[in-house]
Amino acid sequence: MIEVKNLTKRYGSNLALNHIHFSLEEGTILGFLGPNGAGKSTTMNIITGYLSPTEGSITVDGFDTLENPLEAKKRIGYLPEIPPLYTDMTVKEYLNFMYDLKKVKLPRKEHIAEICSLVKIDDVYGRLIANLSKGYRQRVGIAQALLGNPPVLILDEPTVGLDPKQIIEIRNLIKSLGRKHTVILSSHILSEVQAVCERVIVINRGSIVADGTPDSLAHSLSNENRLLLRMEGE
Ligand code: ATP
Repeated sequence: MIEVKNLTKRYGSNLALNHIHFSLEEGTILGFLGPNGAGKSTTMNIITGYLSPTEGSITVDGFDTLENPLEAKKRIGYLPEIPPLYTDMTVKEYLNFMYDLKKVKLPRKEHIAEICSLVKIDDVYGRLIANLSKGYRQRVGIAQALLGNPPVLILDEPTVGLDPKQIIEIRNLIKSLGRKHTVILSSHILSEVQAVCERVIVINRGSIVADGTPDSLAHSLSNENRLLLRMEGE
């Protein structure tokens, strides 16, 4: 479903990504794990087309993100680290606005209602986003990512800043989304990707340092990387 080849990104003299290479099969929940500054958001922003790479290429569902950006973008639902919410709108206004912006073709009322029920925001549908808890706001952010039913979902650190109960709820929601979508979950918390993901890629200083099942990480991570991730996640 996703093919990342030789991806490199420089910000001036800062090498943020150094020849990243991986492919992802349909229906997988992939954890993209790394400490602060590792290159997670840069990778997510390049896959979703918000940043261009210095070198390398990406295909999403067979569409090259540089040669065919519109087709590739249509296939991705994205929740950036800072969700693109308009806090002076109600949830209803916002989702309808995003539906129009994304030019979704599915039947409006039914599609939005189905998403609201899936991410459990029916009870706040008429409320102003500004008045919602962080957990609800994150659900609204995930709802906008689901508009148009994209096969791929990219969620950049979706549990940051949430309380423990909200974190568990969002993790359970991600697991349930994995039944219908290919998901990339970016995180800096080892226990989070172990709880949610089937496969984990660990990135540090712009390079992939481990790739495998959550259980196999215990063996393949160096002590330095394990310590870094543990310290940040706890
Ligand atoms: P975090 O968890 O803190 O968001 P991250 O793993 O998402 O970290 P990135 O934000 O991708 O990491 O950053 C990777 C590297 O690129 C870091 O060294 C960062 O300082 C640098 N960087 C990111 N954005 C820019 C930018 N716009 N200009 C210059 N350097 C940048």
